[in-house]
Amino acid sequence: MVTSARPSAGATVLERWEPVIGIEVHSQLKTASKMFCGCSTAYDGAAPNSHTCPVCLGLPGALPVINRRAVELVLATGAAIDAQTPEHTRWDRKNYFYPDLPKGYQISQYDLPLAAAGTMTVDTSDGPFTIRITRAHLEEDTAKLVHAPGPGGERISLVDFNRSGVPLMEIVTEPDVRTAEQARRYAEELQLLLRTIGASDADMERGQMRVEANVSLRRRGTEPFGTRVEVKNMNSFRSVERAITFEIERQAAALDAGEPLVQETRGWSDERGETYRMRVKETSDDYRYFPEPDLPPLRVEPAWLVEIRGALPELPAPRRSRYQEALGLSAYDAAVLVADADAGRLFEATLAADGHLDAKAVANWVTGEYLRIRNAASNDAAVVTADPTQLGTLIRLVGDGSISRANAKEVFEAHVATGDPAEAIVAARGFRQISDAGALGAIVDAVIAANPAAAADVRAGKAQAIGFLVGAVMKQTRGQANAGVVQAALRERLGTGEGG
Ligand code: ADP
Ligand code: MG
Ligand code: ZN
Repeated sequence: MVTSARPSAGATVLERWEPVIGIEVHSQLKTASKMFCGCSTAYDGAAPNSHTCPVCLGLPGALPVINRRAVELVLATGAAIDAQTPEHTRWDRKNYFYPDLPKGYQISQYDLPLAAAGTMTVDTSDGPFTIRITRAHLEEDTAKLVHAPGPGGERISLVDFNRSGVPLMEIVTEPDVRTAEQARRYAEELQLLLRTIGASDADMERGQMRVEANVSLRRRGTEPFGTRVEVKNMNSFRSVERAITFEIERQAAALDAGEPLVQETRGWSDERGETYRMRVKETSDDYRYFPEPDLPPLRVEPAWLVEIRGALPELPAPRRSRYQEALGLSAYDAAVLVADADAGRLFEATLAADGHLDAKAVANWVTGEYLRIRNAASNDAAVVTADPTQLGTLIRLVGDGSISRANAKEVFEAHVATGDPAEAIVAARGFRQISDAGALGAIVDAVIAANPAAAADVRAGKAQAIGFLVGAVMKQTRGQANAGVVQAALRERLGTGEGG
């Protein structure tokens, strides 16, 4: 969405240097059990090391078994980005030592990923941008290291194996990205896609979606890529944009000063607003990949792919197009309704409850009033819901002049707070307007008769005097008269035009 004060690299830097950026995303797949064992993935809030077995603890002799659902979710992601899936894929061992990796290797996929050569298109402030996605492959997550003070206050590291072996999908793009904004928009759209197809909850703060950016600069007008730096530890979309912007500036300053860059991994510190060196980058040679001997190669039946493709829900991009083209919504409303699950559901359900409602009116209520109330609600408040049928009723009452727009907003707020039906709130608060010209006509006649001086003023062209008469009608009807209808009735009787 549009954010103010967007970070962006200085214009003069960008005149000399062209950023070249590739994005790697790791996302935890939404499966009930882990990638190669039966341990539950629902370890959130559970005691450390309570969701483990010999397989995910990496004990010698334990044998992995492939989680079919995890494979299916990567294939679904591949289908959603128009990627290719080879009929034969396999697993490879990526060897390295780290305390969070008990086996000394990670089961991953090296040269035969489950999905390859896809694309994704996102909207940016410079228009649509298409990024090529090199691959999406399946691997296993590592355990989690917890650094804490020990019994004597010394620094110790603890290992929690609950996360060890959770299915992880890695999605890698071509180095097509040229701006920090494009990178952020890609990450946002990918999160939306993964949530839409149910592949991942993709919550960045909870580590379910981890974004890494490979950033290099090349002199404008030249072909070869420069030395790249991998930036990690960005745990929000805003961090992605800020970190890349910082890195572009940092690299440009170094290159301008004639300092060569080293290929390295840098972390992002949100507090300090800068990247810092973590380690000098390994190359894939260092991992000594080789085919995993404990698992068979995987054959993906074409019929299975067809089935997965057929089961995909409506994807974000076609849904936005449908909202704009078939329902006449603005690009902004379409983007908001597709990006926000609650808003999108309320919009769809309201239209489903009453097919004759104007989609644009429904969209206005949802993106305006509903989201305003929902976003203002404090975090500890219960879920903020509106009944689609009640919203539809309210939109009808405004449309036919039964209640004013201002009162309708109050009714909606009361409905969201209490769950009471719209009509009941309207009745209880005396909001129903009298719009019937016949009924109001009689009251208007009586008011004119009772206020001859004001009526004469209006007849003499003093248009302001009409306000006094409208006020008198309102008093008679305890504020329930439709002001527009009253004005029209007064003008008709007193012969003034539209002036005033
Ligand atoms: P690794 O296995 O070391 O992570 P990859 O070849 O898989 O390396 O590339 C990782 C990411 O880096 C990809 O998104 C790729 O597009 C990107 N990339 C490769 N070269 C460059 C470069 N010179 N500048 C920026 N990004 C690059
Ligand atoms: Mg990588
Ligand atoms: Zn296990």
